Amino acid sequence: MNKKYILSIDQGTTSSRAILIDKFGQIIEKSSREINLITPKSGWIEADPIEIWLSVVECINQVLIKSNTTFNDIDCIGITNQRESVVAFDKFTGEPLYNCIIWQSRQSHEICERFLDKEEFIFKKTGLKINPYFSASKMIFILEYLRNVKKLPESYIQNNVYIGTIDSWLIYRFTNKKEFKTDVSNASRTMLYNINTFDYDDELLNLFNIKRNMLPKVQDSCSLFGYSDFFNTKVKITSVIGDQQAALFGHACFNKGDFKCTYGTGCFMLLNIGKNIVFSKKGLLTSIGWKIKDEYCYVLEGSIFVGGAVIKWLRDNLKVIEKASESENLANEIKDDQQVYFVPAFVGLGTPYWNDDVRGTIYNISQNTTYKNIVKAGLEAIAYQVKDVFNVMHKDAKIKTNILKADGGAAENNYLMQFQADLLNMKVEVDNNLEMTSTGAAYLAGLYSGFFKSLDEVKKLNEIKKEYYCKMDEEKREKLYDGWKKAIKNAINYSK
Ligand code: ADP
Repeated sequence: MNKKYILSIDQGTTSSRAILIDKFGQIIEKSSREINLITPKSGWIEADPIEIWLSVVECINQVLIKSNTTFNDIDCIGITNQRESVVAFDKFTGEPLYNCIIWQSRQSHEICERFLDKEEFIFKKTGLKINPYFSASKMIFILEYLRNVKKLPESYIQNNVYIGTIDSWLIYRFTNKKEFKTDVSNASRTMLYNINTFDYDDELLNLFNIKRNMLPKVQDSCSLFGYSDFFNTKVKITSVIGDQQAALFGHACFNKGDFKCTYGTGCFMLLNIGKNIVFSKKGLLTSIGWKIKDEYCYVLEGSIFVGGAVIKWLRDNLKVIEKASESENLANEIKDDQQVYFVPAFVGLGTPYWNDDVRGTIYNISQNTTYKNIVKAGLEAIAYQVKDVFNVMHKDAKIKTNILKADGGAAENNYLMQFQADLLNMKVEVDNNLEMTSTGAAYLAGLYSGFFKSLDEVKKLNEIKKEYYCKMDEEKREKLYDGWKKAIKNAINYSK
């Protein structure tokens, strides 16, 4: 029978989504469910693994009902997920042993400090900086909790515990406990996986005291992960890929030198650097993009912690806007030339500063400044941070294209995208499809199953919705950016 759709699951930090995609790459139907985040202590962010799984089940049911579709119409399933977050559970019963620790959580900060003298050793193997962000320290936190607080016997921990990223938890549930697997892109964010050898690294496993048999088996991003037995069907799961890499794939950034930026809560810029590893000297991370048999690529990644979240802050905390989209008109209304700078370092700064201590500030306020100037400065701060990342990326590796592909909620904002094109002196393209993450997972799943025939076919499916060209002259661009650099420098100095 000719199957009509691919079912793509996007398990994110604050919501899960299920999306049906047809042969033309079009989204036929989608459904989403919020996830409650649990914050037991300041800086700790957790979620209930069962709630995460049930949210996925609900989204799937909903999307099938809304589209009047059954599993018989589904060719294959693709999964993309929030990266680094960790779930531990009993491998026989499937019972979670601790909450899911979410990637943003800082609860393993002290554990990280134990390994600071091994920074270079770890970086050369994993491409990652020692930081609670990555999975290894979260896994150590949970294993120490099981030993020291729950007082579980060592034999139980050695023989009964599975610990892995969200994708591996979903695969285990989808396949009715038959498979416990992950893909190379997710594995490369755990700090246990050697990106040079494409295998868990025994020296790292020893260093962190984590046993290989507790971890999910690692497969190519585009391969057979099992069947959706939970739903009493035999639909095959043929892709698993971390969310940022999935968006890069969705944008068809298949060639070395292609890059994209996702403007969500945070902003993530990823550059395809091809088959040779590049280690950044300027604070970028190196990870695996994806692997499809012999085809694979590495990526350089810049992470901005507060991107679209600055607009959420203006809405929820400062209460000067009611909807994020209002920020566009307000910014356009400003005709004066006062240059207010907003450094939204609410939780420190990521690439290229990696400073946990700095906090947010607003500079250059005068008598004429209104809330509209501050909203405009908030939008511009997103673009300035992206330029900071772009600059170091350009120094560490060649960016071949002069087009930035953009997606994510804040990429809807015309003022922001135009300002970004002006600052980068580059064309910015926003795709018609705002669900790039699940689209990337669907493309990969379909390439394995034969639903899509080739990368070329997939590339033709993307439709550009809007293009923004640089309209700013060199002198103005430099003057504005100099002001931003001064603001960042002052903010960092203040935190010392
Ligand atoms: P995530 O997947 O990280 O939850 P989304 O891609 O859904 O994020 O984008 C949501 C973020 O984008 C929010 O932080 C919101 O403030 C911001 N955002 C949404 N729409 C706009 C807009 N029109 N202009 C500016 N920011 C926006």
